[in-house]
Amino acid sequence: MRILVTNDDGIHARGLGVAETIARRFSDDIWVVAPAEEQSGAGHSLTLTRPLRLRQHGERRFSVTGTPTDAVMMALLEVLDGPPDLILSGVNRGANLGEDVTYSGTVSAAMEGALAGIRSVALSQVHARQAAGEDVSFAVAEAWGERAIRPLLDTPFAPGMLVNINFPALPPEEVKGIRVVEQGIRDYGRARMVRHTDPRGFPYYWLHFGGIVYTAAQDTDLEAIAGGHVTVTPLHLDLTYREALSSLAASY
Ligand code: MN
Repeated sequence: MRILVTNDDGIHARGLGVAETIARRFSDDIWVVAPAEEQSGAGHSLTLTRPLRLRQHGERRFSVTGTPTDAVMMALLEVLDGPPDLILSGVNRGANLGEDVTYSGTVSAAMEGALAGIRSVALSQVHARQAAGEDVSFAVAEAWGERAIRPLLDTPFAPGMLVNINFPALPPEEVKGIRVVEQGIRDYGRARMVRHTDPRGFPYYWLHFGGIVYTAAQDTDLEAIAGGHVTVTPLHLDLTYREALSSLAASY
């Protein structure tokens, strides 16, 4: 089995190494093609206005000066001599829960894999607010990754389907198990633009998702992760909201 490992935190991210370690439990045929720089929040964006550079770091290890989607395309169209059987994207430093999936480069790399008809899984490690940056622990992803992924190797994936996995911010021995749940939506976010002044006296802004407040709906990823579970959520690239089709058609 050939596995492509990618991410959105970049080729040097610690979580990428965690994903590689998990991948090696399943196969020796592991290829890494990841963005050269961090691309968190890049979503499913493509680079169309600049050239891409491909750098080789090892026999089966490459970086691309673009987005996670660029990296997956580069892997499938240029680097690999045949399609992989599985794409693992991550392990992301931080949650990809609820509507995060629409911003996430990690999830979008898996979307690109799904578009290419390849079994694709996004992996994200939630962390406590006080343990951000380089202090994030990937211990739960390391301990639970193989168990969370193995059933996905021979379960059917419909065309356009991908799977989003999140590991809770707990010591591994406190994890309650694995739950298959829906994507949630947060009720209320306190995002703000943090304004500072640069050394030349001009203002600059930094988006900050401070103190997100929400009540998680039952059987969603948000609820299950808060309860200490590893969450497994099937996603689909068809974003049609079917409940609105007939009422919207009647409005025209
Ligand atoms: Mn990221």
